Amino acid sequence: MEQVNKILDQKAVRITPMRQLLLEYFVEENAVLGLSELEKAFPKSDRITMYRTLKTFEEKGILHSIKGEGDEAKYALCNEHCTPVYHIDKHPHFQCQKCKQVTCIDSQLIPAMELPNGYVQKEVTMMIKGICSGCQT
Ligand SMILES: [Zn+2]
Ligand SMILES: [Zn+2]
Ligand SMILES: [Zn+2]
Repeated sequence: MEQVNKILDQKAVRITPMRQLLLEYFVEENAVLGLSELEKAFPKSDRITMYRTLKTFEEKGILHSIKGEGDEAKYALCNEHCTPVYHIDKHPHFQCQKCKQVTCIDSQLIPAMELPNGYVQKEVTMMIKGICSGCQT
């Protein structure tokens, strides 16, 4: 919980019980999670409040969203350098075709792309599809 409060403080997000609850879950699980997983983990919590909390976390540089297969956005913890204005999440993501789990590949950087004149890059995403280590056997 101390770590959670520190992150909220660092990103200048007011502490509420729901924010503490969800952030602690992300820190503990260290996983990429969508709203449906959070609903399962906290069946008594209000869905709309959870959704809003995710949005706030995304705006404040606590979580980054990942578009995988399906319509639901997934979220993962940002590194400490992310701010509300600038997220530095230039790592690829990996989605397992068997278990559908999405993983941040933090050890790699998406290479800078050379764009034609007049094109301004705002955002870059890379999704690698394959089989995760847990599904190999
Ligand atoms: Zn970020
Ligand atoms: Zn898998
Ligand atoms: Zn990521």
